[in-house]
Amino acid sequence: MSITTNIQWCDSTTNPIMGCNGCELLPTPEKLLAAIDRACLLAGISGWTKGTAKSLFGEVLAQDWATLEESETGPGEGHQNGLSTTNLRHLRKRMKRRASELFSAKAGRLIQATIEKSLKCYAAQLHANRGFDLENPQRDVNVGYAPTFETITLFPGRTKVAAQWSDLTGIERDEKPWLNGLPRLIFVSDMGDAFSRKQDFEFLRSEMAAFQTPEGQRHLWLWLTKRPDVMRQFVDSIGGFPANVCAMTTVTSSKTLSRVDALREVNAAVRGLSLEPLWEPLADKIDLTGIDWVIVGGESGARANVELFPVEWAIELRDRCREEGLAFFLKQLGRLPSLQGREFKLRHPHGGDWSEWTRGLRVREMPEYFYSYADQIVTA
Ligand code: SF4
Repeated sequence: MSITTNIQWCDSTTNPIMGCNGCELLPTPEKLLAAIDRACLLAGISGWTKGTAKSLFGEVLAQDWATLEESETGPGEGHQNGLSTTNLRHLRKRMKRRASELFSAKAGRLIQATIEKSLKCYAAQLHANRGFDLENPQRDVNVGYAPTFETITLFPGRTKVAAQWSDLTGIERDEKPWLNGLPRLIFVSDMGDAFSRKQDFEFLRSEMAAFQTPEGQRHLWLWLTKRPDVMRQFVDSIGGFPANVCAMTTVTSSKTLSRVDALREVNAAVRGLSLEPLWEPLADKIDLTGIDWVIVGGESGARANVELFPVEWAIELRDRCREEGLAFFLKQLGRLPSLQGREFKLRHPHGGDWSEWTRGLRVREMPEYFYSYADQIVTA
């Protein structure tokens, strides 16, 4: 959780739950091993068969774990000796070295590249960089991180702390002027997906109490999930989201468009979509009925690991939102933006500095509902 954030569409973040059991941006370990096998088989690596990636991982993990157990600190509470996406990510360089010894340098490179290209979840990357690292167990770890990203961990009281943060209504945001005139916007669940497990509903109900205290009502809470069907069940169990909660989901391609239908079923006064990272044009495919806000962004990350983002996709969505009277927010052009088929370079590493964009792209609108909520709390 953080009172300030570089995320352009909000002021602050909070995470009553950290960790997640995956989505299209964080494949299961089985899928990741299958992708390594496919890459090595396709490249004709001599001696590689289906299942080689799994046995290689098992060998490397067993050695690693034995060393950890003999160390002074041991493996540390909650760290798992088993197949997980976190462990695959941590051990990618050791797998690379072992594959280079057993097969070829190319096999090693393919392993590392496949793992790095597949792990696109920003929260998981942050966790891997700042949390416990099997490759470097002595490293300092950020306080408040779960032992592994897949370990869904509850942090009671975080929403209560966030509710106490100052009211920003009427305060100018120099760095984010598009938020002026609004209450503090708090992004809920930027470091995991709070709806990963239904057994956490009771905990979430208790955390949500903070939203409805007099302090919590001074803010707008923007709750994002890739599991809007589970969010709907949760919201039904509380008789609807309070007026200061925006229900949101993410769609990255037509494969996940059904999330928009599920979001429409969430009983909320306002709903938003995050189309980031956007991997295909959606303006002609997406049903925006019942949606108030559309955020769009290209993919960030290392150049070798991201998809191209034709700016035309954002322009089409901007125009679609204008036709339908919805707020449109272009967050970033990503690491690899293109126009008319030609890639272009920006100074900002993920194309998030709008002073580098053409005028027509500089659109960062907020839903009308947010302003009407601000009026309500000012006059209350
Ligand atoms: S936190 Fe979000 S992006 Fe990351 S794996 Fe979970 S659902 Fe996917």
